[in-house]
Amino acid sequence: MANYKNKIIGFDLDGVILDHTMNKIRLAKKFGWELKPEQTQSETLKHIIPEPIYDQLQNILYYDPKISLLSPLTRGAKNVLAKLKNKYPYFLVSRRRDPQWAIHILKFKGLWPKFFNENNAFFVIKPEDKNEIGRKLGITHYIDDELGVLEKLVNIENKILFDAHNLFPHVTRFGRIKSWKEFADFIND
Ligand SMILES: [Mg+2]
Repeated sequence: MANYKNKIIGFDLDGVILDHTMNKIRLAKKFGWELKPEQTQSETLKHIIPEPIYDQLQNILYYDPKISLLSPLTRGAKNVLAKLKNKYPYFLVSRRRDPQWAIHILKFKGLWPKFFNENNAFFVIKPEDKNEIGRKLGITHYIDDELGVLEKLVNIENKILFDAHNLFPHVTRFGRIKSWKEFADFIND
């Protein structure tokens, strides 16, 4: 039987807790790109939209006072967090550059302080920093929507890809979930 008590979970924010799919489609359209939902995954989108425009789009998506609030929570995120809350220690580890604004968004979505607060939310710069924080906190399972980030988590035992658009069915070097529902099953196994 799995030892539940030894699991310590880490979550990425963007693309895991926040679903930017529709917001990215809307924004990209303003810049002249017609995107399909599966093209909005960050690492995929970087190959479609040239860097200066991608950066501009990303800036609006994360920091515009109105638009940044429009991305909904990923379906099931709140329910599953509510179930995990008293079962496992968990942390948010995000690369958002403006933690105060990220916290504002989390408050707006009803996740702060109910599920995340100063004690379990960490904001870092690089993927390598996620590894370092994860190591210090003893995170055993980390969920991220970018393969390039998971690659850097050398000290985290269970790296789980949040593959909402089913883009990477052949990836086996990481755990893979397509929804929060699948995550709940994965973690309780
Ligand atoms: Mg992400």
